[in-house]
Amino acid sequence: MFSSLIQDFETELRRELPPALESLLCVPDVQPLQYELFERHRVQVDVLRCDDLHPMISGNKWFKLKFNLVQARRLGMTRIASFGGAWSNHLHALAFCAQQAGLESIGFVRGEELGADANPMLRDAASWGMSLQFLARQVYRERKVTVDAQTWLVPEGGDNEQGVLGCMTLIPAQRALDYDAVLLPAGTGCTALGVRLSLPAGTALWVAPVLRDDTLQRSWRARLQQWSAQPAGPVDWWTDCHHGGYGKVPPGLLSFIHDFGHNTGLALDPVYGGKAMWGLCERIRHHAIPAGSRVLFVHTGGLQGARGFQSMSRQLSG
Ligand SMILES: *Cc1c(COP(=O)(O)O)cnc(C)c1O
Repeated sequence: MFSSLIQDFETELRRELPPALESLLCVPDVQPLQYELFERHRVQVDVLRCDDLHPMISGNKWFKLKFNLVQARRLGMTRIASFGGAWSNHLHALAFCAQQAGLESIGFVRGEELGADANPMLRDAASWGMSLQFLARQVYRERKVTVDAQTWLVPEGGDNEQGVLGCMTLIPAQRALDYDAVLLPAGTGCTALGVRLSLPAGTALWVAPVLRDDTLQRSWRARLQQWSAQPAGPVDWWTDCHHGGYGKVPPGLLSFIHDFGHNTGLALDPVYGGKAMWGLCERIRHHAIPAGSRVLFVHTGGLQGARGFQSMSRQLSG
Protein backbone atom coordinates (compact mmCIF):
# COMPACT_ATOMS: atom_id res chain seq x y z
CA MET A 1 0.00 0.00 0.00
CA PHE A 2 1.34 3.42 -0.99
CA SER A 3 4.72 1.82 -1.54
CA SER A 4 5.40 3.39 -4.94
CA LEU A 5 4.48 6.87 -3.63
CA ILE A 6 6.86 6.36 -0.73
CA GLN A 7 9.55 4.94 -2.98
CA ASP A 8 9.46 8.03 -5.19
CA PHE A 9 9.71 10.35 -2.19
CA GLU A 10 12.63 8.35 -0.77
CA THR A 11 14.51 8.39 -4.05
CA GLU A 12 14.21 12.16 -4.38
CA LEU A 13 15.11 12.64 -0.74
CA ARG A 14 18.27 10.59 -1.06
CA ARG A 15 19.28 12.47 -4.17
CA GLU A 16 19.12 15.87 -2.50
CA LEU A 17 19.84 15.25 1.15
CA PRO A 18 22.51 17.55 2.63
CA PRO A 19 25.32 15.85 4.62
CA ALA A 20 24.12 17.23 7.98
CA LEU A 21 20.93 15.19 7.63
CA GLU A 22 22.44 11.95 6.36
CA SER A 23 22.37 10.14 9.71
CA LEU A 24 18.59 10.41 9.52
CA LEU A 25 18.54 7.84 6.73
CA CYS A 26 19.83 5.15 9.08
CA VAL A 27 17.45 2.54 10.41
CA PRO A 28 16.79 3.30 14.11
CA ASP A 29 18.35 0.87 16.59
CA VAL A 30 16.25 -1.56 18.57
CA GLN A 31 17.42 -2.18 22.14
CA PRO A 32 16.05 -4.51 24.81
CA LEU A 33 15.07 -2.86 28.09
CA GLN A 34 16.06 -4.44 31.36
CA TYR A 35 13.67 -3.47 34.12
CA GLU A 36 12.73 -5.44 37.16
CA LEU A 37 8.99 -4.94 36.61
CA PHE A 38 9.20 -6.31 33.05
CA GLU A 39 11.19 -9.33 34.14
CA ARG A 40 8.90 -10.13 37.06
CA HIS A 41 5.87 -10.13 34.76
CA ARG A 42 7.75 -11.75 31.87
CA VAL A 43 6.97 -9.00 29.36
CA GLN A 44 9.63 -8.28 26.78
CA VAL A 45 9.96 -4.56 26.05
CA ASP A 46 12.30 -3.32 23.34
CA VAL A 47 12.78 0.30 22.38
CA LEU A 48 13.05 1.73 18.88
CA ARG A 49 15.54 4.57 19.23
CA CYS A 50 14.10 7.20 16.89
CA ASP A 51 15.45 9.72 19.39
CA ASP A 52 18.97 8.69 18.57
CA LEU A 53 19.16 9.41 14.84
CA HIS A 54 20.31 13.00 15.03
CA PRO A 55 21.57 15.33 17.75
CA MET A 56 19.27 18.19 16.77
CA ILE A 57 16.13 16.60 15.42
CA SER A 58 13.59 15.00 17.68
CA GLY A 59 12.68 11.39 16.89
CA ASN A 60 9.44 11.21 14.98
CA LYS A 61 9.57 14.79 13.71
CA TRP A 62 11.99 13.88 10.96
CA PHE A 63 9.64 11.23 9.63
CA LYS A 64 6.83 13.77 9.40
CA LEU A 65 9.04 16.39 7.77
CA LYS A 66 11.17 14.51 5.30
CA PHE A 67 8.63 14.15 2.49
CA ASN A 68 7.41 17.70 3.14
CA LEU A 69 10.91 18.88 2.23
CA VAL A 70 10.69 16.88 -0.99
CA GLN A 71 7.18 18.14 -1.70
CA ALA A 72 8.22 21.78 -1.32
CA ARG A 73 11.01 21.17 -3.82
CA ARG A 74 8.75 19.31 -6.22
CA LEU A 75 6.40 22.27 -6.30
CA GLY A 76 9.32 24.63 -6.83
CA MET A 77 8.77 26.41 -3.54
CA THR A 78 11.53 28.26 -1.74
CA ARG A 79 10.03 28.50 1.72
CA ILE A 80 8.35 26.24 4.22
CA ALA A 81 6.11 27.44 7.05
CA SER A 82 4.34 25.82 9.97
CA PHE A 83 2.71 26.27 13.36
CA GLY A 84 3.61 25.40 16.91
CA GLY A 85 3.67 26.32 20.57
CA ALA A 86 6.64 27.99 22.24
CA TRP A 87 8.25 24.61 23.01
CA SER A 88 7.37 22.96 19.71
CA ASN A 89 9.69 20.09 18.81
CA HIS A 90 8.18 20.33 15.35
CA LEU A 91 9.15 23.97 14.67
CA HIS A 92 12.59 23.30 16.13
CA ALA A 93 13.17 20.35 13.77
CA LEU A 94 11.66 22.21 10.83
CA ALA A 95 13.97 25.18 11.32
CA PHE A 96 17.03 22.94 11.26
CA CYS A 97 15.92 20.78 8.31
CA ALA A 98 14.87 23.77 6.23
CA GLN A 99 18.16 25.52 6.78
CA GLN A 100 20.09 22.41 5.80
CA ALA A 101 17.90 21.85 2.76
CA GLY A 102 18.43 25.44 1.60
CA LEU A 103 14.82 26.49 2.16
CA GLU A 104 13.69 29.57 4.04
CA SER A 105 11.39 28.88 6.97
CA ILE A 106 8.63 30.63 8.86
CA GLY A 107 7.38 29.57 12.28
CA PHE A 108 3.97 30.77 13.43
CA VAL A 109 4.18 30.61 17.20
CA ARG A 110 1.21 30.59 19.57
CA GLY A 111 1.45 33.58 21.92
CA GLU A 112 1.81 37.19 20.83
CA GLU A 113 3.57 38.06 24.08
CA LEU A 114 6.55 35.84 23.26
CA GLY A 115 9.81 36.70 21.56
CA ALA A 116 12.63 34.80 19.90
CA ASP A 117 14.53 34.76 23.18
CA ALA A 118 11.63 33.29 25.21
CA ASN A 119 13.31 29.89 25.50
CA PRO A 120 16.19 27.81 24.09
CA MET A 121 13.96 26.06 21.55
CA LEU A 122 12.91 29.33 19.92
CA ARG A 123 16.44 30.69 20.17
CA ASP A 124 17.73 27.65 18.26
CA ALA A 125 15.04 28.04 15.60
CA ALA A 126 15.86 31.71 15.14
CA SER A 127 19.57 30.97 14.98
CA TRP A 128 18.88 28.51 12.16
CA GLY A 129 17.25 31.29 10.20
CA MET A 130 13.59 30.65 10.96
CA SER A 131 11.51 33.79 10.80
CA LEU A 132 9.32 33.66 13.90
CA GLN A 133 5.90 35.27 13.89
CA PHE A 134 4.08 35.43 17.18
CA LEU A 135 0.32 35.14 16.96
CA ALA A 136 -2.41 35.96 19.43
CA ARG A 137 -4.13 32.79 20.60
CA GLN A 138 -7.35 33.54 18.76
CA VAL A 139 -5.48 34.18 15.51
CA TYR A 140 -3.47 31.02 16.06
CA ARG A 141 -6.54 28.91 16.74
CA GLU A 142 -8.17 30.03 13.52
CA ARG A 143 -4.91 29.71 11.58
CA LYS A 144 -5.49 33.20 10.25
CA VAL A 145 -2.27 33.60 8.34
CA THR A 146 -1.44 34.23 4.74
CA VAL A 147 1.64 33.02 2.96
CA ASP A 148 2.77 33.68 -0.59
CA ALA A 149 2.75 31.19 -3.47
CA GLN A 150 6.39 30.30 -2.87
CA THR A 151 5.64 28.90 0.58
CA TRP A 152 4.76 25.29 1.40
CA LEU A 153 2.48 25.43 4.42
CA VAL A 154 2.69 22.47 6.76
CA PRO A 155 0.04 22.03 9.49
CA GLU A 156 0.88 22.01 13.20
CA GLY A 157 2.88 18.95 14.17
CA GLY A 158 3.64 18.09 10.53
CA ASP A 159 0.30 16.38 10.33
CA ASN A 160 -0.46 16.19 6.61
CA GLU A 161 -0.39 13.60 3.83
CA GLN A 162 3.40 13.74 3.50
CA GLY A 163 3.69 13.42 7.27
CA VAL A 164 1.59 10.27 7.36
CA LEU A 165 3.49 8.75 4.44
CA GLY A 166 6.78 9.49 6.17
CA CYS A 167 5.61 7.83 9.37
CA MET A 168 4.83 4.69 7.38
CA THR A 169 8.61 4.28 7.12
CA LEU A 170 9.25 4.68 10.84
CA ILE A 171 9.15 1.00 11.80
CA PRO A 172 11.26 -1.23 9.58
CA ALA A 173 8.86 -3.76 8.05
CA GLN A 174 10.70 -6.93 9.05
CA ARG A 175 11.07 -5.63 12.61
CA ALA A 176 7.35 -5.33 13.23
CA LEU A 177 6.87 -9.07 12.84
CA ASP A 178 8.88 -9.68 16.00
CA TYR A 179 6.29 -7.97 18.24
CA ASP A 180 2.76 -8.48 19.51
CA ALA A 181 2.27 -4.75 20.01
CA VAL A 182 3.81 -1.37 19.28
CA LEU A 183 3.39 1.47 21.79
CA LEU A 184 3.76 5.18 21.13
CA PRO A 185 2.61 8.52 22.54
CA ALA A 186 0.33 10.71 20.42
CA GLY A 187 -0.15 14.44 20.00
CA THR A 188 -1.85 14.94 16.65
CA GLY A 189 -1.92 11.18 16.06
CA CYS A 190 -0.12 11.57 12.72
CA THR A 191 2.72 9.27 13.73
CA ALA A 192 0.28 6.67 15.03
CA LEU A 193 -1.65 6.84 11.75
CA GLY A 194 1.41 6.18 9.62
CA VAL A 195 2.56 3.43 11.93
CA ARG A 196 -0.83 1.68 11.95
CA LEU A 197 -0.97 1.82 8.16
CA SER A 198 2.45 0.19 7.91
CA LEU A 199 2.11 -2.49 10.59
CA PRO A 200 1.03 -6.05 9.83
CA ALA A 201 -2.58 -6.67 10.88
CA GLY A 202 -1.38 -9.16 13.49
CA THR A 203 0.52 -6.50 15.43
CA ALA A 204 -1.55 -4.39 17.81
CA LEU A 205 -0.98 -0.64 18.13
CA TRP A 206 -1.22 0.97 21.57
CA VAL A 207 -1.63 4.73 21.45
CA ALA A 208 -1.15 6.95 24.50
CA PRO A 209 -2.60 10.44 23.81
CA VAL A 210 -0.88 13.16 25.82
CA LEU A 211 -3.68 15.66 25.33
CA ARG A 212 -6.90 15.61 27.17
CA ASP A 213 -9.02 15.53 24.05
CA ASP A 214 -11.97 13.21 23.59
CA THR A 215 -12.33 14.03 19.91
CA LEU A 216 -8.94 12.75 18.76
CA GLN A 217 -9.87 9.09 18.81
CA ARG A 218 -12.93 9.49 16.63
CA SER A 219 -11.32 11.77 14.05
CA TRP A 220 -8.27 9.52 13.96
CA ARG A 221 -10.39 6.48 13.17
CA ALA A 222 -12.17 8.37 10.41
CA ARG A 223 -8.83 9.35 8.91
CA LEU A 224 -7.61 5.77 9.09
CA GLN A 225 -10.62 4.70 7.05
CA GLN A 226 -9.98 7.41 4.48
CA TRP A 227 -6.45 6.15 4.03
CA SER A 228 -7.33 2.52 3.75
CA ALA A 229 -10.47 0.68 2.77
CA GLN A 230 -9.16 -2.52 4.33
CA PRO A 231 -9.78 -3.02 8.02
CA ALA A 232 -6.61 -2.17 9.94
CA GLY A 233 -5.20 -4.24 12.78
CA PRO A 234 -6.21 -3.55 16.38
CA VAL A 235 -5.72 -0.12 17.98
CA ASP A 236 -5.98 0.37 21.72
CA TRP A 237 -6.27 3.95 23.09
CA TRP A 238 -4.74 4.50 26.50
CA THR A 239 -6.69 7.53 27.59
CA ASP A 240 -5.47 7.43 31.19
CA CYS A 241 -1.89 8.57 30.44
CA HIS A 242 -2.22 12.33 29.91
CA HIS A 243 -1.78 13.30 33.59
CA GLY A 244 -4.09 16.29 33.28
CA GLY A 245 -3.27 17.41 29.75
CA TYR A 246 -0.59 18.59 27.39
CA GLY A 247 2.57 19.62 29.21
CA LYS A 248 1.16 18.78 32.63
CA VAL A 249 3.84 17.02 34.59
CA PRO A 250 2.80 16.17 38.16
CA PRO A 251 5.57 15.16 40.60
CA GLY A 252 4.55 11.49 40.52
CA LEU A 253 5.17 11.35 36.79
CA LEU A 254 8.53 13.08 37.14
CA SER A 255 9.69 10.65 39.79
CA PHE A 256 8.54 7.71 37.65
CA ILE A 257 10.60 9.04 34.71
CA HIS A 258 13.57 9.58 36.97
CA ASP A 259 13.34 6.11 38.49
CA PHE A 260 12.83 4.47 35.10
CA GLY A 261 15.82 6.27 33.64
CA HIS A 262 17.96 5.39 36.61
CA ASN A 263 17.10 1.68 36.36
CA THR A 264 17.10 1.19 32.61
CA GLY A 265 19.47 3.87 31.37
CA LEU A 266 16.75 5.19 29.06
CA ALA A 267 15.95 8.90 29.33
CA LEU A 268 12.35 9.81 28.49
CA ASP A 269 10.78 13.21 27.98
CA PRO A 270 7.93 14.19 30.32
CA VAL A 271 5.54 15.51 27.66
CA TYR A 272 5.30 12.41 25.45
CA GLY A 273 7.44 9.31 25.98
CA GLY A 274 7.35 9.41 29.78
CA LYS A 275 3.56 9.31 29.76
CA ALA A 276 3.35 6.38 27.34
CA MET A 277 5.92 4.38 29.31
CA TRP A 278 4.08 5.19 32.53
CA GLY A 279 0.92 3.71 30.94
CA LEU A 280 2.78 0.54 30.02
CA CYS A 281 4.21 0.06 33.50
CA GLU A 282 0.81 0.61 35.10
CA ARG A 283 -0.74 -2.02 32.87
CA ILE A 284 2.01 -4.52 33.50
CA ARG A 285 1.74 -3.93 37.23
CA HIS A 286 -2.01 -4.58 37.05
CA HIS A 287 -1.56 -7.76 35.00
CA ALA A 288 -3.26 -6.22 31.97
CA ILE A 289 -0.44 -7.35 29.66
CA PRO A 290 -0.14 -11.14 29.36
CA ALA A 291 3.16 -12.80 30.31
CA GLY A 292 5.19 -13.63 27.23
CA SER A 293 4.10 -10.49 25.34
CA ARG A 294 6.67 -8.81 23.13
CA VAL A 295 6.28 -5.03 23.02
CA LEU A 296 8.08 -2.44 20.91
CA PHE A 297 8.14 1.01 22.48
CA VAL A 298 8.81 3.81 20.01
CA HIS A 299 11.05 6.47 21.55
CA THR A 300 9.83 9.54 19.70
CA GLY A 301 12.49 11.83 21.17
CA GLY A 302 11.67 15.19 22.69
CA LEU A 303 14.74 15.44 24.86
CA GLN A 304 16.16 18.54 23.22
CA GLY A 305 13.24 20.28 24.93
CA ALA A 306 13.82 18.57 28.27
CA ARG A 307 16.71 20.87 29.08
CA GLY A 308 14.13 23.36 30.24
CA PHE A 309 11.18 21.19 31.04
CA GLN A 310 10.59 22.51 34.49
CA SER A 311 10.04 25.98 33.22
CA MET A 312 8.30 24.49 30.19
CA SER A 313 5.71 22.59 32.21
CA ARG A 314 5.06 25.71 34.23
CA GLN A 315 4.44 27.73 31.08
CA LEU A 316 2.41 25.05 29.31
CA SER A 317 0.08 24.63 32.23
CA GLY A 318 -0.35 28.38 32.52
C1 LIG B 1 5.51 15.60 18.37
C2 LIG B 1 5.86 14.49 19.26
C3 LIG B 1 5.00 13.37 19.42
C4 LIG B 1 3.61 13.32 18.83
O1 LIG B 1 3.56 12.97 17.48
P1 LIG B 1 2.16 13.06 16.71
O2 LIG B 1 2.50 12.58 15.35
O3 LIG B 1 1.74 14.51 16.70
O4 LIG B 1 1.18 12.23 17.40
C5 LIG B 1 5.44 12.34 20.22
N1 LIG B 1 6.64 12.39 20.85
C6 LIG B 1 7.46 13.43 20.73
C7 LIG B 1 8.74 13.43 21.48
C8 LIG B 1 7.11 14.51 19.93
O5 LIG B 1 7.94 15.56 19.84
